[in-house]
Amino acid sequence: MNKHLQVLVELSKIDKQIDSFNPKIALVRKELDSKIAEKNATLQNIQNLQKQIDTLQLQVNESERVIGENSKRLEEIAKKNQEVRTEKELRALNIEEDIAKENLNVANEEIVTLQNRQKEKLAEAQKLQATIEEIEKGIEEAEKSVQAEMQLINKEQEKLSEQRRNVVGKADSKTISFYEKIRRWAKNTSVVPVFKQACGGCFIRLSDKTYSEVLSSNDIVTCPHCGRILFPSDRQTYKECLETSL
Ligand SMILES: [Zn+2]
Repeated sequence: MNKHLQVLVELSKIDKQIDSFNPKIALVRKELDSKIAEKNATLQNIQNLQKQIDTLQLQVNESERVIGENSKRLEEIAKKNQEVRTEKELRALNIEEDIAKENLNVANEEIVTLQNRQKEKLAEAQKLQATIEEIEKGIEEAEKSVQAEMQLINKEQEKLSEQRRNVVGKADSKTISFYEKIRRWAKNTSVVPVFKQACGGCFIRLSDKTYSEVLSSNDIVTCPHCGRILFPSDRQTYKECLETSL
């Protein structure tokens, strides 16, 4: 095989391996990411509960205002009671007094109900706060294992990067930039095997002329249909290449 083509076949293999780390990294992070999402959702729930507690407090304040108002009213009624002269005035005051007392009762009952609801919400928020502590422990553990696994992955990545540098050093920059240009769109199918006279990238049959050019390997040949770089291969190599390109 042509030396430059051989370099490109090697290079495309290394690039495929380098790319294969992305899904691995995502998988390693998956558990950690889901725990972080769980924590954020729980924090959001606590915040919502806090808002509900605050709204209930506003309602409590309003009831307390009603209580203050009606207590004052009762004091005034008590004073007026001493100055009352007619039966009619007395009846009118009694009615007012009943209303003020009724308002007080309603407001007091309302406060009890509201405060009970506040207590329920608070208990719920505290329960969630406890789960957050659990989740944080899980996050810590997941971070440790991500770190350990990432260290292994980084080591492998460094090894591959060095291999890549060595391989790139074996070809001229023109060949490499030609490959990079195709890789921009063809990604991991930039250099494809030819088997049974068909391009391993677009699977279109090559003409006899192109096919013999590929087989002679004097120069770098690209597929006239899709533009990928072609190399001759046997059945086994062809199978492997297609599997790793997925
Ligand atoms: Zn093609």
